[in-house]
Amino acid sequence: MAKNPFACGECHQILPDDIDQCSRHPSAPVSSDWTGYVVVMDPSRSEIAARLNIEVPGSYALKVNIR
Ligand SMILES: [Zn+2]
Repeated sequence: MAKNPFACGECHQILPDDIDQCSRHPSAPVSSDWTGYVVVMDPSRSEIAARLNIEVPGSYALKVNIR
């Protein structure tokens, strides 16, 4: 099984392979321990986006576990 990519602990965005820092939250912790994969195409029309405070289209984790 492939290794999970990292997700940002602040905005929950799933980061591209080999990236371990969110471009919008450079000081936020990241974690490869996350669950729930959602793709948000249009944040203004997505209930999940509103719940997670997502403003930018992309791939997100529903829950990010930061150790
Ligand atoms: Zn972030």
